[in-house]
Amino acid sequence: MQTSFSLAQLADPHVAESEKILRKCVHCGFCTATCPTYVTLGNELDSPRGRIYLIKDMLENGRPADKEIVTHIDRCLSCLACMTTCPSGVNYMHLVDHARAHIQETYKRPLVDRLTRAMLAFVLPYPQRFRAALKLAKLGKPFIGVLEKVPALKPLGAMLKLAPGSIPTASPMASPGVHPGQGTKKGRVAILTGCAQSVLDPAINDTTISLLTRLGVEVVVPPGEGCCGALVHHMGREEAALASARQNVDAWTRAIEQGGLDAIIITASGCGTTIKDYGFMLRLDPAYADKAARVSGLAKDITEYLAAFDLPEPVRKPGTVVAYHSACSMQHGQKIIRQPKELLAKAGFIVREPREGHLCCGSAGTYNILQSEISAKLRDRKVKNIEATGASIVATGNIGCITQIASAAKLPVVHTIKLLDWAYGGEPPRMS
Ligand code: SF4
Ligand code: SF4
Repeated sequence: MQTSFSLAQLADPHVAESEKILRKCVHCGFCTATCPTYVTLGNELDSPRGRIYLIKDMLENGRPADKEIVTHIDRCLSCLACMTTCPSGVNYMHLVDHARAHIQETYKRPLVDRLTRAMLAFVLPYPQRFRAALKLAKLGKPFIGVLEKVPALKPLGAMLKLAPGSIPTASPMASPGVHPGQGTKKGRVAILTGCAQSVLDPAINDTTISLLTRLGVEVVVPPGEGCCGALVHHMGREEAALASARQNVDAWTRAIEQGGLDAIIITASGCGTTIKDYGFMLRLDPAYADKAARVSGLAKDITEYLAAFDLPEPVRKPGTVVAYHSACSMQHGQKIIRQPKELLAKAGFIVREPREGHLCCGSAGTYNILQSEISAKLRDRKVKNIEATGASIVATGNIGCITQIASAAKLPVVHTIKLLDWAYGGEPPRMS
């Protein structure tokens, strides 16, 4: 695609990066066929190619964002299916991240939208605030119907709908410390405790630590870790996202210096995609660029780590039929495709893949709150395809997908690690 940025515009490294991305796009439109919003809405402006044109126009003309571009960029799930499909290697992720930051800087959203986004950014990344908010949400559940009737208040209704009926107690295993491996030491890793997952399902990380330590791997929960920054990053709140990234880079750098790390284990693929991008996000910060690149290089999804590990034979072979749902951040964001399925099959599960596996379930961070109608359509389509597999349980590697699919599916939805841990001698998985 031809571009016509001025030299002065290209002096901004963010614009220069976006220009390089735009030039790679050859307008072929292959990406439209796999874009969930294009498939759902049928509007070119809700396709990757349409959004790329809108972003180009906004950046090239140095314009502030307007209502039209905000509407179509807000509808993008950042699922990155377009990046998997694109034959020209267009890095849509970095382009849309830049567009979102530009929107945040230059566009004044309606008051309720601003307040909703500010509240999400204030609450979700902080486990204590999120836990308190979930308790409050129980009181608000009777008002869901009323809130859903007022367009501006739909996000509040969606939030209350998604809030679980009961909240598990916080896990002591998530506190900073070291969990020694059993027997001969086979490795040393840090684990991301994260934010929302540690409140919604702390058993995911407990199970991961339990399995890894039984395998002889020492697991460190470094002090100072926090939210990976993905939630605010996808809302265009660049400074907040970079602050989270720096905080985690500092925490993991200390852990590296204090005893070395083979990997930084991540059990939520949405976080994994962002942490693997820290090197890019902090590339312009001389104090952090190298450290962030090192952290990104060490970041591994738990299934990626286990797939490269010399696993023993499973203790039991359950024979259960599992529908494996590959989160977008797993398959498109991190290109982790075969490892979770192969691990499950090796552990004695019968793995089935739902049709349209490339399409997002509609969770996408805060998307199921901010774009609840499109999100519900995608969820129902996903659940129908999952149920058609005839499986008795769903496995996936992202807490957002677990919450989203479980809100509509008749069958239980668990994190992949819970099934693996069970096969390798752990407790039977507790269901969401
Ligand atoms: S990230 Fe997903 S929703 Fe957004 S343009 Fe690409 S395929 Fe479409
Ligand atoms: S598939 Fe790639 S090159 Fe083709 S229109 Fe989409 S982003 Fe552009």
